[in-house]
Amino acid sequence: MKIYNTLSRKKETFVPLTPGAARIYCCGPTVYNFIHVGNARPLVVFDVLRRHLEAGGLAVTFAQNFTDIDDKVIARAAVEGMSYADLAAKYIAEYRIDAHGLGVRDADLAPLATENMEAILTLIQTLMDKGCAYTAPDGVYFRVSAFPAYGKLSRQPLDDLAAGARVEVGEGKESPLDFALWKAAKPGEPAWPSPWGQGRPGWHIECSAMAGGLLGETIDIHCGGQDLIFPHHENEIAQSEAAHGVPLARYWMHNGFLNIDNQKMAKSLGNFFTVRDAAAAYGYETIRFFMLSAHYRSPLNYAPETLAQAAAALERLGNALTNLDFLVENLAGDMTPEEAAFAGTLPAYRARFDAALDDDLNTADAVGVLFEAVRDVNAHVAGTNARPLAQAARALLGGMTGVLGLRLAKQADMLDADIEALIARRQAARAARDFKEADRIRDELKAKGILLEDTPQGVKWKKN
Ligand code: AMP
Ligand code: ZN
Repeated sequence: MKIYNTLSRKKETFVPLTPGAARIYCCGPTVYNFIHVGNARPLVVFDVLRRHLEAGGLAVTFAQNFTDIDDKVIARAAVEGMSYADLAAKYIAEYRIDAHGLGVRDADLAPLATENMEAILTLIQTLMDKGCAYTAPDGVYFRVSAFPAYGKLSRQPLDDLAAGARVEVGEGKESPLDFALWKAAKPGEPAWPSPWGQGRPGWHIECSAMAGGLLGETIDIHCGGQDLIFPHHENEIAQSEAAHGVPLARYWMHNGFLNIDNQKMAKSLGNFFTVRDAAAAYGYETIRFFMLSAHYRSPLNYAPETLAQAAAALERLGNALTNLDFLVENLAGDMTPEEAAFAGTLPAYRARFDAALDDDLNTADAVGVLFEAVRDVNAHVAGTNARPLAQAARALLGGMTGVLGLRLAKQADMLDADIEALIARRQAARAARDFKEADRIRDELKAKGILLEDTPQGVKWKKN
């Protein structure tokens, strides 16, 4: 696979440090509120990265932290009248509902900042011992001048960085670029003991400590949204590499922004929709599919028309799968020579699908191949009697949708035992020539949004 490495600004062949295994660290949410649709983009695209690497035979260890203590958590806990810990637990639970809804698998490791204080303090101590950190009245700071490679990820001259936004203010900093490793406790704030007094960790140090502690000093892939390149990931590199003397990550992947009216969706701008609300309007699956319809590094605009297109495409895919399930269940014939020839072309669709994902996770092209396959399969199974053809086509489409993490939940709902039972009862009524009862059942199903179609191959049904 080739990965566009933000560090080199080039596509590079992905070679894991340990053959056969990949260790990935993805910066996770600060848990003080519901996540918005922009936050869902890294979740979905890096979930596909994980699935694609696994489908290629790698053993992936995927770590994603929860930032459960910071200014926003403390402020929100005060508003909601609960402890920081209860607030974080509440929004971790809400996060999981959305992540599961989006078909995002749980991380193998999901560390909390507050449960990794020892690793954080050890790392700060190492930086102190090496002269890369110093104390100030309001905490401990990283001394950027002690790490000459600072700026290598964001590739901006240090003067520009110093003048840039999001540089933290702080009392007693030696230089504007220096950033907090440990923040001295203000009265009433949650605090932990440290050699430098009661306080709490800065944001950047938790990721360095947890990535290093859980995955090793050098990991394979570090990922997150583009806005994390500076200062967050630049600072992670400075801390980890100053302490350990080896690269923090071999590949850095950053997703582009999800925009709304061509502006980044952000809590601070107030132009956001929560994933929860978007899912109520469009369905989780549609949001996931919409995210995958673009390349992860391109900007993506959140607009009702685009979501409607995504919903329509998903429905086409769902119908194709339902139809194939029906054919696998009901057909018994063998392939004609023409059908066998078509079946022989199916592996090439999967090869092209994999090649697209191998090219820096080009999900847009992969989705394109999937829909070519849907179109061609539909054309070839329209009048078929061949079970092996339906099976091969079902396996092809199922394999690709699996890598994209599309569960087509609607399909699962439709395979509801109650619906099947009603259809069986209707068949029995028809066999007994009780057409009144058969029609009544048809109407009952129709009221539930289930449409029946009597075909020579048997009764087909689909959701309206
Ligand atoms: P935050 O809670 O702001 O730290 O964001 C959590 C994750 O979502 C980070 O990886 C961010 O880079 C990412 N993110 C936030 N807003 C957007 C957006 N509008 N588009 C894409 N990714 C975003
Ligand atoms: Zn991080």
